[in-house]
Amino acid sequence: MPIRSILFFASILFGLYLYISVLNPGDLQFQIYPGVNLRASLALLMLLAFLAGGLIVAFTDALRDLKRTLELKGFKRRQKALWEYLEDAEEERSKGDLVAAEEELKRAIKLLPGKPLLYLKLAEVYRAQGKLEEALRAVRAARTKGILLQGLFAEARILLDMGRKEEGERVLIELLKVHPQNAQALRTLRDLKMKEGSWGEALEFHERLLKSSPESDGELLVALRYERAKTLGESDGKEALKELKRLSKAHPLFVPARVLWGDVLLERGRTKAALEVFRKAFRDTKNPVFLQRMEDLYLREGNPRGAVHMYLEVLSDSPDDPIVRLLYARLCLRLGMPEETLSRLSEGEHQLSRFPLFFHLKARAHMEREEWQQAVEALQKAMALEGREPAITYRCEACGHLEPEWVDRCPSCLKWGTFNASLSSWGPP
Ligand SMILES: [Zn+2]
Repeated sequence: MPIRSILFFASILFGLYLYISVLNPGDLQFQIYPGVNLRASLALLMLLAFLAGGLIVAFTDALRDLKRTLELKGFKRRQKALWEYLEDAEEERSKGDLVAAEEELKRAIKLLPGKPLLYLKLAEVYRAQGKLEEALRAVRAARTKGILLQGLFAEARILLDMGRKEEGERVLIELLKVHPQNAQALRTLRDLKMKEGSWGEALEFHERLLKSSPESDGELLVALRYERAKTLGESDGKEALKELKRLSKAHPLFVPARVLWGDVLLERGRTKAALEVFRKAFRDTKNPVFLQRMEDLYLREGNPRGAVHMYLEVLSDSPDDPIVRLLYARLCLRLGMPEETLSRLSEGEHQLSRFPLFFHLKARAHMEREEWQQAVEALQKAMALEGREPAITYRCEACGHLEPEWVDRCPSCLKWGTFNASLSSWGPP
């Protein structure tokens, strides 16, 4: 209390004292013990009563302050110890000593058993050690003590680790009820559905994820729509065709959708429409898979002339495309036209003579014509190039994986629409 206010109260008290003592000049007499008397003026008694009251108030205040200070000290001490345990646990964990980290966390919990975060951390350490039952118990303790979202997610992850897929999924759905935009939960559920091939559900979760975090993978959206259309194609061809058309319009360079669009049309007997789809798709993407599809289709329909025309048309558009030239030369061989094979090959010799396939085709054409000497020479050249299998190979543009046939999804890097035929995969560059 500042000196000024003390002086102010003291002077008021003193004034009051003077005033009362002037009005009541006589003394009062008390008996405080049989035979013991005390005399005092009324003003003095009043003053003493005031002072006693003030002292009592000041004393209880001081006591309360002392108690609070002591409590705070204890809390700070425990808090400090807690941080130390946590830091130690973190350090042990980063060193890979999970058992020591577990011990530190257990000590921290003993100190402050009400902190849900500690149980969550303990659950992580258990999970890293593969003690999944213990991890589950710890994470459920964290949940009952108040960590809801993180707790639910951690519980789901542990359940999934344990192979309890349905329970894990249920927990994630429960999480989404509380927080519908939770990206972790949406992503986990999407990946689960992708793994089990439930593409429709995977797509739904992915669309929800894109709404909440637009930075996530938009390419995957196209792939998932494609996969759903593929599943749809097995039951509802009409609906699948509609979706594939939309998908191809929106993403003309996504090859799988355009291949499937043509394939579904073929399955439904719409050969002409399928050819048209493949033709346009080749024009847009230059992916030889469409040429191969058209070639197969023409031959299956008993129309080899159609196939020849198709190649000649493409060759007149892009005469320098070595892949088209090789495919056409191979077709001519299939159709028993070795002369055409040889003449097309020799036209492209300057480009193609680096590739073993070129010599393999040449050798086979010479064999058809029973020109054994030239056939042997061509085979020798093919071998000199350390020829691999003269088959046409498709290469994943993302990871370099090779497949003998075009595939929609890379079995190695799991990406969609990355396969293209490349000459470099047909022999040494
Ligand atoms: Zn790949």
